[in-house]
Amino acid sequence: MNVELLDHYRRELEHQLVSLESISRDHETQLESGRTTDDFIGPDRAADLETLEVDASVAESERRLAEKIRHALERIELGTYGLCEACGDEIPAARLDAKPSVSLCLPCQENHDAGT
Ligand SMILES: [Zn+2]
Repeated sequence: MNVELLDHYRRELEHQLVSLESISRDHETQLESGRTTDDFIGPDRAADLETLEVDASVAESERRLAEKIRHALERIELGTYGLCEACGDEIPAARLDAKPSVSLCLPCQENHDAGT
């Protein structure tokens, strides 16, 4: 993968991580305070935050995604970004564009999903 493209994905990943962290902070603050009032919840996220139980699982999936993004950024540094972690093949650009944090090609992802 060329440097410009790597840079493009790095910026995309960093951007995702920053917005994810700010959303997570909101959710954590909300979990701690137990507030569910509308002034705290943006209209776009209101549906996800109807109960604290839902909010806890949302926060958990955000935490997992943040880990994947950090892992992808590490792989950019290591020079292995864009290669499937299971088979070593290049992950198609269309797949990376859709989700820059993926670390498996589609067939390996399907195997992985089927095996769990
Ligand atoms: Zn693969």
